[in-house]
Amino acid sequence: MADARERVLAAVDELSDEVVEFTSELVRLPTVNPPGEGYAECARVVGDRLKRGGFAVEYLPAEGRPEHTTRHPRLNVVGTRPGKGKGPLVHFNGHFDVVPAGDGWTVDPFGGEVRDGKIWGRGTGDMKAGLAAAVYAVEALRRADVQTAGALEVSGTVDEESGGFAGVAFLAETGRIARGRTDYVIIPEPLGVDRICIGHRGVWWFEVELRGRIAHGSMPFLGVSAIDHMAALLEAVRVELQPALATRRTAMPVVPEGAGRATLNVNAVVGGQEADGVQTPCVADRCRAIFDRRFLIEEGLEGARAEVTALLEKVAARIPGFRYEIKDLMIVHPVRTPEGSPLVAALGRAIAHVRGREAALIASPGTYDQKHVARIAGVEQCVAYGPGILELAHQPDEWCGVQDLVDSTKVLALTALDLTAGR
Ligand SMILES: [Zn+2]
Repeated sequence: MADARERVLAAVDELSDEVVEFTSELVRLPTVNPPGEGYAECARVVGDRLKRGGFAVEYLPAEGRPEHTTRHPRLNVVGTRPGKGKGPLVHFNGHFDVVPAGDGWTVDPFGGEVRDGKIWGRGTGDMKAGLAAAVYAVEALRRADVQTAGALEVSGTVDEESGGFAGVAFLAETGRIARGRTDYVIIPEPLGVDRICIGHRGVWWFEVELRGRIAHGSMPFLGVSAIDHMAALLEAVRVELQPALATRRTAMPVVPEGAGRATLNVNAVVGGQEADGVQTPCVADRCRAIFDRRFLIEEGLEGARAEVTALLEKVAARIPGFRYEIKDLMIVHPVRTPEGSPLVAALGRAIAHVRGREAALIASPGTYDQKHVARIAGVEQCVAYGPGILELAHQPDEWCGVQDLVDSTKVLALTALDLTAGR
């Protein structure tokens, strides 16, 4: 095993130019989501590369999903390479969609330029470098002539940035990632080369709609303004709810530090009548607000929900005519890789070997596809580990360091070797 490890590390060094070039090639495909541009082409590029590495490749369009259209097909790709024995199956998953470039770039966001030891462009860190690292980690095993005991899989999937329903959730729903078949899942999101990410907080997006009574804008005393009521509600949120949330900390190691608390963000407020984009001279008879509550694994959804309902009731008791409706928009439950996970241990050993330091365990401030792997596929042995800097994700002038990319390719290759051998 020690000899195999050294051969694998040497193989990664030899293919380091290729993994950089492959990352650039992926970045030059503007797989922008929304709306989901160029997915099919990107899936083929990943699939072709895997085929050359001895993988059996399947293309899995997200048939039946509403976002899978003729104009913007949702095409996922999965490659499988059998092992020589009966070891565990290790699955690497990377999403290849990227968020729109936005403003403020000083380089071509889809140029894939390599300069100053960095690969530049939208989606370098989040997460085309990570996908490339997975593809070349398994390639390094092949070139080093190391046959794993268990099988290896690499998937490139769509739509993570919009919830992953046509991507990883689809693979989980159709049994392509499933408990009993898939033993370990590693998602190379840009969490940093020395850090292992073991999960995330929960998300509860909800909408509150307030109803008033319409009247002429010149005689507002004859109506009930839903906007005034919303102002009272938002004040209660600011003065009563948010300070209470800020005192709660999770035991999960969420980074950055501030994201380790319960939070509530007001995403949007919309009120009053609009006709053809022009406001009417009326008292607002409705006002809606969208809230984004990030809840801790210790709180749970029902706790968060009861607290918001209690606040609404409190405001309603104070203000005559305060009428509200509350509606869920999206729910993501928190996930956490189990304590004592052999996957975390194997990654930790590989990081120690390649990087010469102890891995840090972290949890992500936002959610990612681990939720589908854990909740739908039922595979709890899942983590995120990959190159790139979390804070650069979705920013202008996004980049990923070449050395980080090469090091994480080594870490993933050693981890695959270790885990597929079984215990
Ligand atoms: Zn990502």
